[in-house]
Amino acid sequence: MNNSITFASLGLAEPLLRAVTDTGYEHPTPIQAQAIPQVMQGGDLLAAAQTGTGKTAGFTLPILHRLVQNPAQGRKPGQPRVLILTPTRELAAQVEESVRTYGKHTSIRSMVMFGGVNINPQISALRKPLDILVATPGRLLDHAQQKTVDLSAVEILVLDEADRMLDMGFIRDIRRVLALLPKQRQNLLFSATFSDEIRELSKGVLNNPIEISVARRNTASELVAQSVVLTEQSHKRDMLSHIIRESGWHQVLVFTRTKHGANRLAEKLVKDGLSAAAIHGNKSQAARTRALAGFKDGKVAVLVATDIAARGIDIDQLPHVVNFELPNVPEDYVHRIGRTGRAGSTGSAMSLVDRSEIKLLNAIEKLIKRPIERTTIEGWSPDMVKPEPAHVRAAEEDRPRRANPPRRHGAGNGQGNGARSGARPAGRSRSEASAPRSGNGSSRGGQPSTSPARPRNGSARRGNSSPRAALLGSTSTKG
Ligand code: AMP
Repeated sequence: MNNSITFASLGLAEPLLRAVTDTGYEHPTPIQAQAIPQVMQGGDLLAAAQTGTGKTAGFTLPILHRLVQNPAQGRKPGQPRVLILTPTRELAAQVEESVRTYGKHTSIRSMVMFGGVNINPQISALRKPLDILVATPGRLLDHAQQKTVDLSAVEILVLDEADRMLDMGFIRDIRRVLALLPKQRQNLLFSATFSDEIRELSKGVLNNPIEISVARRNTASELVAQSVVLTEQSHKRDMLSHIIRESGWHQVLVFTRTKHGANRLAEKLVKDGLSAAAIHGNKSQAARTRALAGFKDGKVAVLVATDIAARGIDIDQLPHVVNFELPNVPEDYVHRIGRTGRAGSTGSAMSLVDRSEIKLLNAIEKLIKRPIERTTIEGWSPDMVKPEPAHVRAAEEDRPRRANPPRRHGAGNGQGNGARSGARPAGRSRSEASAPRSGNGSSRGGQPSTSPARPRNGSARRGNSSPRAALLGSTSTKG
């Protein structure tokens, strides 16, 4: 936030200022302070900004301003003045929701379109006047082909999360869309990273842009209290269920690597009495929308998601993120934890890491340039992830990664051994201990507090077992 700049001082039209006041924002975020004047003036923009920086308002507010200042003359239905392309349906829906929020005191009309849903209601909607169209590339091209949308009058193009669009293989679709647009237009490109591919794309699209780069999420990651619990893959589900219950978490986004894993985990959590739902690409749009709405309004406490499905989930002050498995790409870790601690609020991000993920963990710590605090959960012994002898480790690392590491069974996995309070990962020294929390099982502030001892048979003890005080207090940092 920049406390010396106000939205009013940026010169936004009055109906937009009113909408901003309604949302409760006091000051523009850094990306907004830089992007809004440039876009208002009609210039092109190349912005390195991730979700959570306030980038959506950074482009929707000045775009709305331009439309309000220059009302359309004699336009046909189905002919948008602004085209916003996003990689996912969720992001498209959320961007359009922002357009509606900030444009609510104006007569600007917007529409969202994405695939995976019936095309007919979209065709009907396109018969009405339209100013701003938010779309995913595939469905937009379907409409263009059927001539139900006419892109020949687009004045402003936004490529939102352009790096994701490239990651998801949309480059050809984007080029096909570009070919349908008028040459003369304003272009805005937002991307979390500036890779060579993004530079190349921007060269072809942008015209003398100004470049803005706001603090990357990984430097802003100080906002998020990050921790790692070293454990076995086969213990993760029980452990997570336990942590959520004992900590009284009411809104937690859990990441799994696979769709199948997301389903299995959500089912298990429901069996454990938690309200949980999975969200991923194989679910129908209706199921995804339902799960997301339930999560937003508090009916669903745990949303289990894959990386792609979680893209663009925009929930104010999401308090907790759990990495049930670490992502294969370290940057995705930063995206994931960016779901919490957004726009100034704090959040927690916990990663359950098994031995096969240590290498990924190291890569993440290298990327974020700091070690992540190791935490133990009372009752689950960290000895189970003692480093293996070097030759075994080398062999493991050479093996192709499996999306779902097999459950480990049998003696020697540490299950039930050393399951006592204060056990710590081997080889790490305790360097700090946060204040122990009360053992009434209702810890505040979002840290898991206590854990009943885990019986030898491996099933977590439930019921009235009085949880012993303090856990997570026994933390240690990398020595
Ligand atoms: P975004 O990066 O666009 O996904 O926005 C991240 C979150 O920040 C959203 O939940 C917005 O509602 C919120 N936000 C955007 N601008 C501001 C602002 N100026 N002050 C406070 N919160 C904001």
